[in-house]
Amino acid sequence: MANSNPNSPPESSRIDVDFIMRALKSANVNALRLALYHQTKDPELLDIKVNQVPLRGGAFIGYVIGEEESDIIRARALTYLTSAPEPVAVPSREECNDYMQLFTGKVLTPSEQNYGYEELAFDPLVRSASWPQSRPASRLKGFKVKIIGAGVSGLAMAIQLDRLGIDYEIIERLNDIGGTWEINNYPDARVDISTFLYQFKFEQKYPWKHYFATQSELKDYLNYIVDKYDLRKRIRFGIEMQSARWDSEESHWSLTLRDRNGAACTEECNAVVTAVGLFNTPKLPNIKGIERFQGQMFHTTSWDHSYDYAGKRIAIIGTGSTGTQLMPRVAEAAGQLTVFQRTPNWITPTPGYRREVNEESRWLLSAMPGYWNWFVYSSYISELQVQSLQVIDREFEASGGVVNEKNESLAKALKAYIQHKMGDRNDLYEKLVPNYPPLARRLVVDNGFYDALLRDNVELVAGPVKEITESGVVDESGRHYDVDLIVLAAGFDVGKYLSPVEYRGRNDVTLDKFWGKDGARAYASITIPEFPNLFMMYGPNSMARAGGFHSWAEIVGRYIGDLIAHMIDKGSRSVEVLPEVFQAYNDQMDKESGELLWEAHGQNGYYTNDHGRSGTNMPWPMHDFYERVRKADTCNFKFEK
Ligand code: NAP
Repeated sequence: MANSNPNSPPESSRIDVDFIMRALKSANVNALRLALYHQTKDPELLDIKVNQVPLRGGAFIGYVIGEEESDIIRARALTYLTSAPEPVAVPSREECNDYMQLFTGKVLTPSEQNYGYEELAFDPLVRSASWPQSRPASRLKGFKVKIIGAGVSGLAMAIQLDRLGIDYEIIERLNDIGGTWEINNYPDARVDISTFLYQFKFEQKYPWKHYFATQSELKDYLNYIVDKYDLRKRIRFGIEMQSARWDSEESHWSLTLRDRNGAACTEECNAVVTAVGLFNTPKLPNIKGIERFQGQMFHTTSWDHSYDYAGKRIAIIGTGSTGTQLMPRVAEAAGQLTVFQRTPNWITPTPGYRREVNEESRWLLSAMPGYWNWFVYSSYISELQVQSLQVIDREFEASGGVVNEKNESLAKALKAYIQHKMGDRNDLYEKLVPNYPPLARRLVVDNGFYDALLRDNVELVAGPVKEITESGVVDESGRHYDVDLIVLAAGFDVGKYLSPVEYRGRNDVTLDKFWGKDGARAYASITIPEFPNLFMMYGPNSMARAGGFHSWAEIVGRYIGDLIAHMIDKGSRSVEVLPEVFQAYNDQMDKESGELLWEAHGQNGYYTNDHGRSGTNMPWPMHDFYERVRKADTCNFKFEK
């Protein structure tokens, strides 16, 4: 019954009652309730109460339905599924508003309704860019967009332009698609938020194998998208963009490209969309003597799979999401593993991190009308809550607290988790507890890191690395560790947006100059004055405080698509954000950032830039930002003929 081809329907004729019961047993009953209510209009389903249950010491709330009521929902679902009636039409927007309220029992703001409706994706094309009027075919002649990067964002943008019928091509420096999921193929790489949040909403019911997909599964998904939407023919692999210059006379960008053989050429296009990702420049740690090491050494983004590390003496430098994630798998095979942790991170337990989506659940997601939509919606609702832990409560801090009550509850719960995991190893506990609040940096998922630290062949060294020698690593105290392999899990140069490409806008202004004062900035994270027809995906301050990455790629792609469409429709050749709009936006953004924990409590992580400014995250609550980019606000732009 496995649905290996994403397009093939479930073989319902072969499904028996026991199978359905097993599927229902592991279902999200709240999601099931709403899907079923829409089909049956059974009033009893409406009366079922959703309880708000505190999680992680009260830091989060779970929306839970009691056992008895869950049994009622499952029984009704069984009756429905075994009778297999013709599904009714998908719910209207108004019905969705009512149902979303039933999901949590909370009254929703109009913005929450708008975002939620898109997230439910009963209309899979709800996030499509569109033409203001009919498509102006004659104006499209010769108009070309270049998208830089064939990762998640680049593919999302390509699909938007395809729908608009605008000509484009994707320039990709690697030899394959996937961006971050192409290069981050280190042992045990997998996504650390729910797969059901980490997918495009226009592509429905993809049969994921894991609730947290592995790197290879994520690559398969992207390949599936590329094939289904016929994007491969539009991608030029192995081409690196080196520089881009805006030609004001011609109103086009002139790009210098270099192929894998080193041959350079110049090509023109009307607009550039950069989709190069945030984590695209690996950081080689600035450690004394690093060039002297004679053993094997690689950054996690260029894992050498031909090197057999089994039985070897290994050092991992860095314990961010990457170092923490790969460490347990490496520890299993290593002779001796030394983990160098300069700063401890808050690490969160994630129940079901390796769980497979079983056949029964996959069937239910596919067979029960509307269940997939509500299941996906539930992932978004759970993740949303993280925002309340990021806001500084001034009164709370004045009375001696840190950030706010919920944030402190989380800190307490996570400390208890470390204590529980470390048992009587107080030496390790002391090294592992951060001295800053959770979420000041990205929460790291526990992939078995704490358990692996207790292995006989693993040692945790806290503090900076003093130097690297020909044969190993020296810690702060001067102790030398002989190793065969050094894994550099040192992260990325996140502050260098769009680097190393040199962009020159109007009057030859460079981004380095434009961003010289306090790092990269943009309007709505997407555009910059003096750089017409240049659009960024995952640009400065674009990391939403909540919401799935792919959802934002669709939303930002829609905004860019709408702007380009508007420009062409008007008969204009360039679009550029007004400088005063850019300034006002950034002033407001700085003010908002001051209300959040990143600048006040940040710890040299990538959430703050070299100037101490919050340069990565978006300060607005995600629904407020969403309203800013839901529709392209064309009055904030200058259009030139
Ligand atoms: P990171 O969070 O920036 O962590 C880099 C690590 O390297 C930190 O522990 C850092 O120590 C250490 N380091 C850097 N320079 C050093 C030096 N000179 N000496 C000693 N230690 C040094 O990078 P990352 O772990 O690659 O993660 C980056 C982001 O990628 C994550 O936040 C996440 O967004 C994404 N990611 C996602 C997944 C997933 O979904 N599964 C997995 C991996 C990564 P300090 O803390 O002291 O600076």
